[in-house]
Amino acid sequence: MKESANLFGIENVLKTLGLKAINNGTPTGIVNYSGNSILESFSPVDGQLIGSVTITTKADFEAVMEKATAAFKIWRTMPAPQRGEVVRQFGDKLRKKKEALGKLVSYEMGKSLQEGLGEVQEMIDICDFAVGLSRQLYGLTMHSERPGHRMYEQYHPLGVVGIISAFNFPVAVWAWNTTLAWVCGDVCIWKPSEKAPLCGVACQNIISEVLAKNKLPEGISNLINGDYKVGGFMTKDNRIPLISATGSTRMGKIVAQDVASRLGKSLLELGGNNAIIVTPDADIKMTVMGAVFGAVGTAGQRCTSTRRLIIHEDIYDKVKSGIVDAYKQLRIGNPLDETNHVGPLIDKDAVNMYLNALKQVVEEGGTIIAKGEVLKGKGYESGCYVKPAIAEAKPDFKIVQHETFAPILYLIKYSGDVENAIETQNNVAQGLSSAIMTNNLQEAELFLSVQGSDCGIANVNIGTSGAEIGGAFGGEKETGGGRESGSDAWKVYMRRQTNTINYTSEVPLAQGIKFDL
Ligand code: NAD
Repeated sequence: MKESANLFGIENVLKTLGLKAINNGTPTGIVNYSGNSILESFSPVDGQLIGSVTITTKADFEAVMEKATAAFKIWRTMPAPQRGEVVRQFGDKLRKKKEALGKLVSYEMGKSLQEGLGEVQEMIDICDFAVGLSRQLYGLTMHSERPGHRMYEQYHPLGVVGIISAFNFPVAVWAWNTTLAWVCGDVCIWKPSEKAPLCGVACQNIISEVLAKNKLPEGISNLINGDYKVGGFMTKDNRIPLISATGSTRMGKIVAQDVASRLGKSLLELGGNNAIIVTPDADIKMTVMGAVFGAVGTAGQRCTSTRRLIIHEDIYDKVKSGIVDAYKQLRIGNPLDETNHVGPLIDKDAVNMYLNALKQVVEEGGTIIAKGEVLKGKGYESGCYVKPAIAEAKPDFKIVQHETFAPILYLIKYSGDVENAIETQNNVAQGLSSAIMTNNLQEAELFLSVQGSDCGIANVNIGTSGAEIGGAFGGEKETGGGRESGSDAWKVYMRRQTNTINYTSEVPLAQGIKFDL
């Protein structure tokens, strides 16, 4: 085993998470798959094979559906606060396994160890949120227009919820969905990204232990493995009333149509093209910090990564030189080594997309001011390490309009009022995260107003990247319109029922209609 894996003791990590050692076939704790096809997981950190999982066949999927459907019948009758108690225990287990799971996230996906641990912390936080929520699944009461009648609404679980997740948040996105769905009384089937399947198995093992301890059916939480074809088992299945899918807009357009064609519900969390507006009243130090973290964090592979900086001409040169200087200090290397700032991209396809984008921006007339390249030599053997790049560009370049999932930041100059910058910021197909850096109250409020940002997330004096679990998370336009995590996002996992109760011995008909019976 190579040095980098030993750096954090991979064998212990896999053992703690109930995974068998390197390349050892079927993972534990999940259905006994009949298929022979194997999905191998290679680390972008050092190119090593970490392990493999068996790909779910259609027959396996049927077995999973059967288990999930049976489990739902039990789980839905359990009082919500008791379901919350199970989620509380899951959160406690995560606290104990935080270090191991954080390291696996970092090694399998390539994000820094701090970010890997942060992702597990988000899982813990959403567990806490869901526990509280389990006592707050409130509906409204209404005054009936008929005497002796009472009206109210209540929320019931939907049934089996399908979760499809992306590689870049291999564990947190599942937790955002599943913990809320569980307290709502749903059971879940999860298909993690084919690029981080072991993270999925590790999570499934953790929840399986909790369910077994509580003598609950394991079908409350189910895992299936594979690529889009396996995801398709769920999107096309009308026994699954809700599909929550996180990933590219390309994927979302297909999933949305598959689910809509059977009149199912979908919750879509898709690509972003996030911008920070920097006005003449911005604090330059805060701007540089927010922009650099947003652009290079997770090697530019966050849905909320900062891709565009829209800077006023009066301060353009100052901001530009601050950012270019900061980029010179970035350390790129093994993400498990805490002294490094930037880890690898997920795979070589991602590296090629990065190179193509850099080529295209130049072809369209842009100027590279922090040169990008693929790093070679000791420590970079996986071929997935790239240098974060900066290009000066125009907002209407095709490549600037497109989400390239890599650390490339486009600097765009604006002149005149902040309205011009807001128009540029909104003038893309995606609508996930946005920010303004300014100490001018009028500019900040305009940005947040109805004439301001059209994104699901709009921040003042913090960057675009990251979000707290307490808020509803998601974006508009080609980002898909879904909301998950905090606030009232739980409602999507439930069906609303309006109830009218007549406590008289009369039957007053609506609209004053009378029958002479
Ligand atoms: P991807 O679209 O390639 O894959 C995402 C998931 O969808 C995977 O599990 C994949 O197997 C599955 N999938 C793909 N096509 C499918 C189909 N036709 N039917 C069913 N399942 C299908 O995305 P990725 O490369 O893993 O992740 C990067 C993308 O995800 C970026 O665009 C990023 O912005 C987005 N993302 C968005 C959010 C958000 O909350 N808005 C969060 C994380 C990532």
